[in-house]
Formats: sequence, structure tokens, C-alpha cells
Amino acid sequence: MSLMGQMMHMPLLISSLLTHAARHNGDTEIVSKRVEGDMHRSNWAEVGVRSRKLAQALARLGCEQGDRIGTLAWNGYRHMEIYYGVSGSGLVCHTINPRLFPQQVAWIVNDAQDKVVFVDLNILPLVEKLAPMMPTVKHVVLMCDRANMPRETALPSLLCYEDLIAAEDGAYEWPTFDENTAASICYTSGTTGNPKGAIYSHRSTVLHAFAAALPDAMCIKATDVILPVVPMFHVNAWGLPYAAAMVGCKLVFPGHHLDGASLFNLFEEEKVTMSAGVPTIWLGLLNHVKSNNLKFSTFKSTVIGGAACPPAMIRTFENDFGVEVVHAWGMTELSPLGTLGRLKTKHASWSTEQKQKLLEKQGKSVFGVDMRIVDADGQVLPWDGKSAGDLEVRGHWVVSGYFNIDKSPLHDGWFPTGDVATIDPDGYMQITDRSKDVIKSGGEWISSIDLENVLMGHPAVHEAAAIACVHPKWDERPLMVVVKKPGAEVTAAELIAFFDGKIPKWQTPDDAVFVDEIPHTATGKIYKLKLREAFKDHKLPTV
Ligand code: ADP
Repeated sequence: MSLMGQMMHMPLLISSLLTHAARHNGDTEIVSKRVEGDMHRSNWAEVGVRSRKLAQALARLGCEQGDRIGTLAWNGYRHMEIYYGVSGSGLVCHTINPRLFPQQVAWIVNDAQDKVVFVDLNILPLVEKLAPMMPTVKHVVLMCDRANMPRETALPSLLCYEDLIAAEDGAYEWPTFDENTAASICYTSGTTGNPKGAIYSHRSTVLHAFAAALPDAMCIKATDVILPVVPMFHVNAWGLPYAAAMVGCKLVFPGHHLDGASLFNLFEEEKVTMSAGVPTIWLGLLNHVKSNNLKFSTFKSTVIGGAACPPAMIRTFENDFGVEVVHAWGMTELSPLGTLGRLKTKHASWSTEQKQKLLEKQGKSVFGVDMRIVDADGQVLPWDGKSAGDLEVRGHWVVSGYFNIDKSPLHDGWFPTGDVATIDPDGYMQITDRSKDVIKSGGEWISSIDLENVLMGHPAVHEAAAIACVHPKWDERPLMVVVKKPGAEVTAAELIAFFDGKIPKWQTPDDAVFVDEIPHTATGKIYKLKLREAFKDHKLPTV
């Protein structure tokens, strides 16, 4: 007969993260640059009390276990109180990206059947417009105090967040329930087809927080000051609000003020040590600090993911500013952490250049997520660093299905990511492309990421995207779409020549075109679909 362990069983609940933070690190600060324009200072103890009050208020509004509660909000302390108040009380926190097309926002709210929606001040006009299309929403709560409530609004029963909180006493105990209960929902961006809802459980969220905080993952600790640039509506800000509560560190929320100057000032004023975000946001910050000859005084490391981080960006951060870049890969369906670029002991003797090359990859698995690559027939491919195949994952915080969709997305028990990757013998994974973005030239694949990484290293290039352009002989050939740095002069021929010796000759792009701006999706990725449409009639000089 098997012998059972005799350890206490406590379900892994999100409320326990906040209870811990409030009890053991209660006076550690939570600072927010508010939509109202001013700075607000709170701490874990206060977030603890106010989240419990919010849970009481939601119960008073008639919310019951399992109800979905939407948020359309930027990064701030109230948004975090909603995270904890909603999930902690057994409701489901549904963060919605306000940058999506309005119809898509309405579609997502209807699919999730949100009962209450919390809205930041400057997002109210969107909700006023969409309200008639969102019949399940019984209450809209504006995230501000009475003084900031609008005099006139299209929503006659609009509620005030601070009034709701003020009406409660906080004498509330977080309920205990099954750790597999849904805690939050995040929809995939839906650049192809309708968005799909990934439902995170309390268990998956707490386990993800443990893993995210590990030294070889995001490496966060009590002495850190974390500024999540990645939005709280984007895969729960990559889990930082949970991991920060776990380690009890200070959090700094930037609101919607994400331009280079605002971010830099916030980094300096609040002594930020660590941050995380997508590559495009860092382009803005780096531009600002470089053009104004500024230096960071406390910023030490940043996790960059959500799209391939160009090696040139890693170099600039490290060499010019002493900020360590950790390249990470993940996705909505993975809560989002999958792999991170970190070294092993065996690399100690490697040259700086060798180490840098290795760390440009998306990295190795954190415990809790396993991965493999398969070919078109589903056959498992070797980890030789050369064979590229469809990347599949499985683990404690990987989806097993989607909300409201019966068909399982899994293949043989693994989740197909839609990414194409190689894995080397040491387990370092490198994304070569999203499968729909690879450029298929004469039966061979060209990695759009490889091409973009080369041009992002050109001194005159601000941003570059590689897309497939139709070619009568080769089916597809690469076209570079480029935004120049302000004041920089460069020709298409010079850019094409810049590829010499950096990639196999046959992969050299056929042409480069200049644009004022490259379109991005609502989650900050280059909007390849839109670019392909815009340049579908482009005539390559090689045709
Ligand atoms: P997000 O995770 O940004 O919410 P999605 O789930 O839509 O949005 O996007 C996940 C996809 O983003 C991955 O499948 C991959 O294509 C891309 N991605 C994420 N991180 C990286 C990275 N470090 N390098 C290359 N691609 C990445």
C-alpha cells in the first residue's frame, strides 16, 4: 500500500499571495502614475484591505462564484486591487485590451459574458459607445473617485470605484475553494480569426508566479523595484503582479504614460531596478535616453519578449547602459512564460561573443514547461540546433482548451504554438518565425526574424519588418519594410548590401521600401498581415 505524505494541504489560491504580501511586506510601496495625471502611493497592506473591500462590493452588486468581471484599464494600483479582489473571491478576472478594434472588444465581452466591467477614465468613451452591444454587462465601474466622475455620461447608472470601496468595511475573509477554479481569462490577440479565451486557474497562476520569480527566470526579489511596462491586460502583465506579491517587492505602475520620456522619469524617480516589455516599447525609451544623453542610475535588468528581441537592442542595453536583457518567449496560452535566455555553468569559459550569441536565442525551458519540435507529419525532430519544426509545449500553466470552444487544440497531449523553432543539444530554443510569417522561397524557408535582426543592427534603421512578396519563380521572396531613424539617409541598395556575409546569400532580401511607420498589433507585435496586404502588389526588382 502506498504511504501518503502527511503535510498540510492548502489549495494554491491567488488570495494567499496577497495575504502573504500584506502580512509580511505590508509597508512595501505600490506606486502608480494615474490616468488622472498625478502620482499615487499605496502599499501591499493597503492593497490587501482595499481588495477585500472590493470583493465585498462585488458581492453586494450580485456577483456570484464564476462570474466574469471585465477590466479595460492600464497598469495601476486599482487594476491590481481588481485582480486580487475578483480572483480572490472566486470570480474570474477578465482583462481586455483596450487597443483592440471596438467591435473586437464587444465580441470578447459577449463571449466571456462579463457581468461587471471596470474602466479607466480615458477608456470610458469606448465603453459608452459599446454599451448597447454588451447586453450581459450589468454594471460599469469607473476607476476613479467621486471628484473625477463625469458630469454627463451615456451610462446613467455608471458606478464610482472609490464610492464602492468606501461603502465597505473590509471585514471579509478570502474564501477557500478548489485550486483548479478559474481565476482569470485572457483572450489571444486574434490577428487571424476570432480571439480565443485562455482560462488560467488559481493553481496555474500561483505555480507560474513561483517559476517566474526564480533566479534563472525573471529573477525577482524583495529588494527589487519592478516597473511592468507590459500591460496588465496582456497576459496579466506576464504574471508580475503575482510574482511581486510572492517576493514582496515594490511595484511601479506607469498607467498609460508609456512614451520614452515618461518612462525614463519614472524609472529614475522611483529607483526602478527591473522591468519587462515588448521590443517596440523599448525602442521609444532607448531613443529618448540616447538622444538626450541620459543614463539610468538604478535600472539593472529587463525581460524582453512577446516578439523577437533584435540582438542590436540587447547590445545597446548592455553595452551603452549596463542593463542586462533577458530574452524570453511565451504566449497567452502559456500564462505566458515558456523559455528564457540564461547561461549554464558550462558556458563560463565561453567568449563574451559566444555567450552573447547564445543569449540572443529565446532560451531554455523553465521547470513546469516542456517543449519539443515536430515536422509536418507530427514526427519529433532532433535537438541539433538546425532542424526547424513546429514548436509544441506542455506543462502546469499551458492551456488544455479554450473558453466556449469544444474542440481540443492539443496534438498528442502537446499544445502546438504556431511557432517554428530549433532546439540545440543544450535545450536552447530559437524561434525562426511564426508559421504564418515564414517566407517560403523555392521550397526553402527564410526566417523573417533573422532578416529583421540584421537590419535592426544598421545605424540608419529605426525599425524593420521582413515580409513575403509574391515571386513568379520562387513563389515568395523577402521584402524589407523599413522606418529610418530621424534624419538618417540610406538607400534600399545600401540596406540590401548590408546583408552581405551576415546571412546565406540566397536569403538576401530582393528589395527594401521605406515607410513612415510600421503598423503594430494591439499587443505590440509587427502587424505582418497588414504589411503583406499593403505590399501585395509590390513589384520586386528581381521579377
Ligand atoms: P502574447 O503572448 O504577446 O499575448 P500571443 O499569445 O498572440 O500574444 O503571441 C505569442 C506569440 O508571440 C508567440 O507564439 C510568438 O510567435 C511570439 N513571441 C513571443 N515571444 C517571442 C520571442 N521572444 N521571440 C519571437 N517571437 C515571440
